[in-house]
Amino acid sequence: MDNIIQLKQDQITIPYQNGGLKELVSALAEQTEGLGIDEALTLLAARFPGQVTFSTSFSIEDQVITHAIASRDIPITLFTLDTGRLFPEVLETVELSELRYGVRIRLVAPEAAEVEQLVARDGVYGFRHAVENRKACCEIRKVRPLNRELKGAQGWISGLRREHSDERADVKLAAWDEAHALIKVNPVADWSTQDLTAYIAANNVPVNPLHARGFVSIGCAPCTRAIQPGEHPRAGRWWWENEEKKECGLHMNPNRGGKAA
Ligand code: SF4
Repeated sequence: MDNIIQLKQDQITIPYQNGGLKELVSALAEQTEGLGIDEALTLLAARFPGQVTFSTSFSIEDQVITHAIASRDIPITLFTLDTGRLFPEVLETVELSELRYGVRIRLVAPEAAEVEQLVARDGVYGFRHAVENRKACCEIRKVRPLNRELKGAQGWISGLRREHSDERADVKLAAWDEAHALIKVNPVADWSTQDLTAYIAANNVPVNPLHARGFVSIGCAPCTRAIQPGEHPRAGRWWWENEEKKECGLHMNPNRGGKAA
């Protein structure tokens, strides 16, 4: 059992397969500099046809990106990590977005056997009792499915923003992602919260109804709560843990020695 749920870096690192791709990052960053989000994503999809994918968590950032992709029919696939612990409101937002934009968003599930073995070992809410348990849960329900989904892709779009945290303050619009051997593109990296809300209002973009109830950064239901005005946007995630341990391992920052972004 332990060989399945034990965290092993060599199991989550995908071998480098895209010869020459790494060298394209700086050129791509230059080409997309100053472009609007629609133009930047169109250019990216044209440069790597059929090889660009977008992981959405239905955050306000991700809904802006979804709108940009879907309203212009940009050929980029959309998927989300269905951890089995999502809020019903997130699933409602999946359907609302699919109906609004006429797209299908792939729900990527963890391996059932791994989840069963994890729960058998740690209990149904075992992630509450130790940071190691929580990281094992995030590894099985999020990190490994993400790695499987990104295998073979050349471009990965995410909604990271510099405003999110000190750790994300140097997030680039386009950067090499060593762990997945692809170009990671963060098209709203330099957007402010005001920029996002203005775009959402102007384009009538559907948003997760939990935002109106004080939820800002939204992950799995048992690990997310609403925050108070003035609290850090990620204060509602894994609130029982120390600040420096509060990442799930999906976004690692190459500028910080591979630590969480
Ligand atoms: Fe598990 Fe919580 Fe991580 Fe979701 S956020 S994968 S429930 S530990």
